Amino acid sequence: MTSLAYFEGAIVPIEQAKISITNNTLHYGIGCFAGIRAYWNDQQKRLFVFRLKDHFSRFLASARLLHCNFDYTVDQLADITVDLLQQEGWKQNVYIRPVAYKDEGIFRVWLHDANDKLSIFSQPTGDYLPEDKGIAVCVSGWRRVDDTAIPARGKVNGAYVNSAFAKSDAMLSGFDEAILLNQDGHVSEATAANFMMARQGVLITPPTTANLLEGITRKSLLHLARTELGIEVVEREIDRSELYLADEAFFCGTGVQISAIGSIDHRMLGDGSRGPITEKLRRLFYRVLIGEEPRYLHWLTRVPPG
Ligand code: PMP
Repeated sequence: MTSLAYFEGAIVPIEQAKISITNNTLHYGIGCFAGIRAYWNDQQKRLFVFRLKDHFSRFLASARLLHCNFDYTVDQLADITVDLLQQEGWKQNVYIRPVAYKDEGIFRVWLHDANDKLSIFSQPTGDYLPEDKGIAVCVSGWRRVDDTAIPARGKVNGAYVNSAFAKSDAMLSGFDEAILLNQDGHVSEATAANFMMARQGVLITPPTTANLLEGITRKSLLHLARTELGIEVVEREIDRSELYLADEAFFCGTGVQISAIGSIDHRMLGDGSRGPITEKLRRLFYRVLIGEEPRYLHWLTRVPPG
């Protein structure tokens, strides 16, 4: 297995995929990225990429927000990624990171008319948050970036400074993760994941207008909950105090996958471990991810053996 990168038009050894210290995006965060996972099914000896084209559609949408000029289509980017993974020959779970940046110097703080470049690399990955317990969460004093400042709907590099403020404060105070409220004081999302909670059997999540990333995991889970598990799903604003009254809650995202929340601001949810709806969804979702649910094979792209 070799570590390679798709770097500005060609697949090269990852050591050669280097960007200058003068790069514009390094200085101002004017770029966007995607985070995609591929799962190794050891029985079938196959690597499956989850919702590859959906990730690239969102990536190109983020690029559009930033006035990036790309001729790439979603299909081309998906093909490049499969080619990269095939050449790398991974036989384990990997995380794939496409990134778009402005190949420009430092004397320009604007989006348009730039030399836009794109690279993709992958690396083996484990769990981003603890999976074996309900995690301890706080509501952050930091508010989520507003759509009128930096659109959270785009996966914009610079917006992750907002996430990092909230995450560090949470971790240094002994929590695992933070929930950010938006400017209205309603629940938005976590630092790198969407939020869902259940009350009296209903699965509730903030709407995509609450300054959050339109998560692909979020969309997939809402679909699975509704159509496969017959769970009532509601997208609506959530007040801070409602968080404390949830029967169960979890974060979801490509990195986080499904991470059960044990407590919020020191109020235990349920018995502090993974709740029944979270458990059911998680079991189904993890089968979908490794290609064990035939009805959802269309969500997966199979990487041919290298
Ligand atoms: N919100 C933020 C801020 C994120 O960084 C992520 C991870 N990409 C998500 C939500 C979840 O999105 P997805 O399910 O598409 O990975």
